[in-house]
Amino acid sequence: MKIETVADDVKILGDKFTLMDLPYGRTDLEPFMGRDTLDTHYGKHHQAYVDKLNDLIKGTEYESMSLKEIIVASRDNDDGIFNNAAQNFNHIIFWQSMTDNYQDPSETIQKKIEDSFESMDMFVSEFVDAGMKRFGSGWVFLIMENGKLAWKTYSNADNPVGEDTDILLAVDVWEHTYYLDYKNDRKKFLETFINDMINYKFVELRLLEA
Ligand code: MN
Repeated sequence: MKIETVADDVKILGDKFTLMDLPYGRTDLEPFMGRDTLDTHYGKHHQAYVDKLNDLIKGTEYESMSLKEIIVASRDNDDGIFNNAAQNFNHIIFWQSMTDNYQDPSETIQKKIEDSFESMDMFVSEFVDAGMKRFGSGWVFLIMENGKLAWKTYSNADNPVGEDTDILLAVDVWEHTYYLDYKNDRKKFLETFINDMINYKFVELRLLEA
């Protein structure tokens, strides 16, 4: 298992954005997330967001910006660029939010969670509620705001980039995430994620970087 985090901005030589490497093999998350899902979701959808973003920013003022700068600058001005930049960012966080080697949270993380949510049980149930209440396509983020952790949801490609918060985790609740493995059962997908697949080590590293 890799323990370093991938930068939020996967761009080489100041040139094109590139598709990040997955931190596990394509069958390593089974049965939670199978090879077919990763082949499509990572290999096709995420790759397409990266490719479209590179095409759309070519020759524009966005070309010299970081991914986060593009997200902020395009949010209210350029739907196509915003959606592809934000989806690239969201998936970079999402793939690292899961692990094939689940470990309980460290004492530091557990204490931080209990300080913010009262208990680990509340942390879990508030996550599932948030994911279930997000109608249609969107995202659930674990953020830190004023020193407290919270779950926050967004519609479609939107995310907290540009807000005064730190992003610690992202969970994709578009149907393409869970449909092949869980059909229409988003709740089962959310429960399995939070109980068995969540990468607390990643949360801890993001907190250290915050
Ligand atoms: Mn997705």
